[in-house]
Amino acid sequence: MYDVIFLGDSVETPSLKQLQVAPEAVTSCKGKVGEFFLRFRVNGEVHEEKTRAIVINLPHQQEQSFADLPVFRENLEPEQEKNLIFIQDHEEIAPAYVNRIGLEKALQAIRDNASRQVYYFYRSLRFTEGTDQLYEEARRSGVAFFRYEEDRLQISPPDRLTYQRGGATMEVEGKIYTAPLLKPAPELEKLAQVLRIIPGEEGYLQAENVYLAPTLTGRRGIYAVGGARSPNGLAGFEEEIKYTLEEIEAFKFNLEPLVEEDREVDDRKCILCYTCYRVCPHAALEENKEKDSMEILKDACWGCNGCISHCPAGAISLGGEEEEERKWGLQVLMCENSAETARKKMPRENMDGFISREIPCSCSIKKEEIYGSLQEPEDRILILGCFEESCKHLEGDQRGQRIVDEVNETLASLDLGEDRVRFERLSPPMEQDLANLLKRWREGQL
Ligand code: SF4
Ligand code: SF4
Repeated sequence: MYDVIFLGDSVETPSLKQLQVAPEAVTSCKGKVGEFFLRFRVNGEVHEEKTRAIVINLPHQQEQSFADLPVFRENLEPEQEKNLIFIQDHEEIAPAYVNRIGLEKALQAIRDNASRQVYYFYRSLRFTEGTDQLYEEARRSGVAFFRYEEDRLQISPPDRLTYQRGGATMEVEGKIYTAPLLKPAPELEKLAQVLRIIPGEEGYLQAENVYLAPTLTGRRGIYAVGGARSPNGLAGFEEEIKYTLEEIEAFKFNLEPLVEEDREVDDRKCILCYTCYRVCPHAALEENKEKDSMEILKDACWGCNGCISHCPAGAISLGGEEEEERKWGLQVLMCENSAETARKKMPRENMDGFISREIPCSCSIKKEEIYGSLQEPEDRILILGCFEESCKHLEGDQRGQRIVDEVNETLASLDLGEDRVRFERLSPPMEQDLANLLKRWREGQL
C-alpha cells in the first residue's frame, strides 16, 4: 500500500511511501480515502496499486494572448537597447502566478541593461508573498508601471501601443511581451471522469471550500495542486502541497468520517439502477457484488443526502432510522406507473385488510424480500405490474413475472405452498378491475 500516488509531477516526501503515475495512463479508481485501488497502464500492461491518497499535480496549459506577440516566459530579446513593454491582463485578470513571471522578467530586463526603458501595463496586479517585494524592487529599479482600463490600450503588433489616461495619450514603441492565458492542463478533463471528480466551470478540480482547504477535490482523499487546482494554483504551491502532505500523513493514523449519521442502502430494495452512483458528487457509492446492491463508502460520504432524494426505490436512508414494524398477511405491491395510479382513484375500502406498498417497477422486487415476507403459511403476495407495451423500465414487467415464477417454483419444491405469489398486469385507468381483482384474491378465487 502506498501513502500517496502522484498523478503528474511528484514531490519529495521522505515520510510517505509514494509512487508516480502518468495521468493519461489511469484507467479507473475504486475505493475511498485510506484505500483507493488505482488502475493504470504501463507499456500496454494493466497494473493496480493500493494507496491512501492521490495527488494530481500538473502544470497549466499556457497559451498566447495575441497570436503575433511573444508571452512573458519567452527569452528576452538580445537587442540590448530596445525598449521593452510588458502587458498584463489585456483580456482577463491574470492570476498571481502570471504576475510573478512578468515582474521577474521586467526586473531582469532592467538588470541586463539599466539604460533600457521598461514599461509595464496592467489592469490588475495580484500580490502574494514575494510578489509585493518584486513589485517594489522593479519600481525602484526604474520599471514604469501603468494601470489601464479596458479599451484604453491599443496594441499595434509587433511593437507599438497607444495608452490613454484622462485626456492624455501616450505612444510607446518597443518589443512587446504579453501575459499568457492559463488554462487547465489538457489531461484534466479525462482524469476528472476516470476519478469521478466533478470539475469546476473552468475545468479545474478544486472543491468549493477553496479558502479552508484549497487543494481538496470533491472526492475525499484526492487532491489537486498546481495547474490542476485553479488559475492561481501555482502562486501558493509551496504551502498548499505542504498542507496536503501533512493531511495525508495525519490520516495514516486517524481517519474520521466527515458526518456523524451514516447513510445506508437497504439491499432488499436496491434495484442497482446506478442513479445514486451518478448523482453523488463525492463518489461515495460503489456496487457491492456480494449483496447485489449499492453500498455507501462511509469515510467518503459528505452527508449531502443527494442519493436519498434521488433513489427511485427509496432504498437509502439515514442509519438508525426506525424500521417500520413489519406486518405480513395479504400483501399487495403496486407499480407506481400503473396499479398505484389506479388505486388512488379507487374507493379506499377496497384496500381494507391488505398491506400495500408502492414500488418503482414490478422488477424492483427481490426474491430475498419476497421470501422474507412469507413468514407464515397465510402470508401471500400480489405483485401488480404494467402491461408489456407500457412498462417504462425496459421489460420490467417480464422480469417481474419471471421473479414470481421462480419464487413459486422454489416454494413448491420445498413444500412451502403453491402460488403464494401472484403476478398480474394493470394499467392506470383500470381502478374497477383492480377492485375486482383484489376481491377475488381475498376470497381465494384467483
Ligand atoms: S449523502 Fe449520498 S450523495 Fe451525499 S455524499 Fe453521501 S453517499 Fe454521496
Ligand atoms: S439509486 Fe437506489 S435503487 Fe438505484 S442503485 Fe442507488 S440505492 Fe440502488
